[in-house]
Amino acid sequence: MSGVYFHIDVNSAYLSWTAAKRLVDGNPQDIRRIPAVIGGDESSRHGIVLAGSLPAKALGIRTGEPLIVARRRAPGLLILPPDYGLYAQCSRALMELLSQFSPDVFQYSIDEAFIDMSRSVRLFGSPLTAAETIRSRVREELGFTVNIGISSNKLLAKMASDFRKPDRYHTLFPEEIPLKMWPLPVSSLFFAGPAARRKLQNLGIRTIGELARTDRALLTAHLKNQGRVLWEYANGFDTSPYLIPLDRNKGFGNSMTMPMDVGSPEQARQFLLFLSETVSARIRADQAKISCVSLSLVDCNFSRCSCQETLARPTDLTEPIYQAACRLLRRAWDKTPLRKLGVHTSRVVREECSQLTLFPPGREEKLRRLELALDQIRAAYGSQAVTRGCFLNERPEKPPSLSIGRPPDRSSF
Ligand SMILES: [Mg+2]
Repeated sequence: MSGVYFHIDVNSAYLSWTAAKRLVDGNPQDIRRIPAVIGGDESSRHGIVLAGSLPAKALGIRTGEPLIVARRRAPGLLILPPDYGLYAQCSRALMELLSQFSPDVFQYSIDEAFIDMSRSVRLFGSPLTAAETIRSRVREELGFTVNIGISSNKLLAKMASDFRKPDRYHTLFPEEIPLKMWPLPVSSLFFAGPAARRKLQNLGIRTIGELARTDRALLTAHLKNQGRVLWEYANGFDTSPYLIPLDRNKGFGNSMTMPMDVGSPEQARQFLLFLSETVSARIRADQAKISCVSLSLVDCNFSRCSCQETLARPTDLTEPIYQAACRLLRRAWDKTPLRKLGVHTSRVVREECSQLTLFPPGREEKLRRLELALDQIRAAYGSQAVTRGCFLNERPEKPPSLSIGRPPDRSSF
C-alpha cells in the first residue's frame, strides 16, 4: 500500500472543549446540543463568534461574524468566553494520545493534526480499525469528539475529515474522488472561499467535479495562481505548501482558516488576539518562553505572506505577542481579504536564561503574575470566573483591559 495519512480534526474544538469541561464540572447541560458559541465580549461592538455548536451553525451562525448578528439569528443563543488554558491542555492531551499511534504526528493547528500511518497502520489491523480506535479512545478518554479523514495524501485526508460530522471517520482514496468529492459544491473544496466561489460561478462552475474537468489553462487565465491550485485540489493532487504542518519542537503556533473572507483590520486584529491568547497559554503550559513572533497570511487569491519580528526579550505573555502580530499585520497586509491567519512563535527558551533588563522588571513582572493568576483562577473556577473586559477595544495596539466577570457558580465548587 502507498502512504496512509490520517487528518484528525476536533469537532467545533473551542466549543467542544468548553462543553467537556462544563460536564466534568457538574453542569448537566451539554452546550454542543444547543445553539451556543464561544465569543468575545458581547457588549463590545466588535465581539465576534470564535466557534459555534452544530445547532448554532444550523441556524446560519458562522465563525467570524459579529455576535450581534449571531444573536439576531438565534435570540436564545448561549455565548461563553474563551478559555485559553483549557485549550492548551486539551490540545496537548490530544497530541499525546495520537502519538501512541504513529511516531509521525504533525500538529497542524491547535485542534488538527496529520498522522503518517504508513509505517504503523498494520499494527492496528487496517486504516479503518485504526481510525475507529482513535475516534473512540478520544471520545472516551478525553471527552470530546473528532472527525478523521483517511487517504493516501494530506489534502484528501483533510477533505475527508470535513465530510459528515461529528464523531466520524471517512476515507477519500483517489479512486473515490468522483463519487465522494466531485458532486460537492466548490465551496467545500479546501481553501476555496467566497471570492473563489464567485469567480468560478461566473465561469459556470458550481461543483468540484466541474472544476476538475475544466481546462487548467482557462482557469489560470481567469484566476491566475488560485485557478491552478484549485484545479489541482479538485483532482486530488496534494501539491500545495498549505498543508505543511507545524514543527512542534520549533515553537508554538495557531492558525485559523476562515469560513468567510476577513476584510477589515478590526476583524483581523480580533483573530490575532484570539490566536495570541491561545499561543501564549500553550507557551506558559509548557513553561517555556519565546523570542520570535511570526505572522502568516494567506489571502483569497492564494497569495501567501509571512514575516517575523524578534522581541527584545523572551516572553510567555499575550501582550507582546499580540502587539508584534499587529505590527506585522500593518506592515505586511495589502488589505486583500484574508482566508487564513496564523500566529507562530519560535526561538524557544526553556531554562531561566533570559537576558535581564537594565530596568526594574515592574510592568512585565506584574503582567506575568496577572496572566498566571488568571490561568489559575480559570483552571479552578471555570473560564467565566475572570474574563477580559472587552475582547478588543477601540485602540488596536493596546491589549484589552481586564475586568472581573460574574462570580463563579457555587454549584461547581
Ligand atoms: Mg476543528
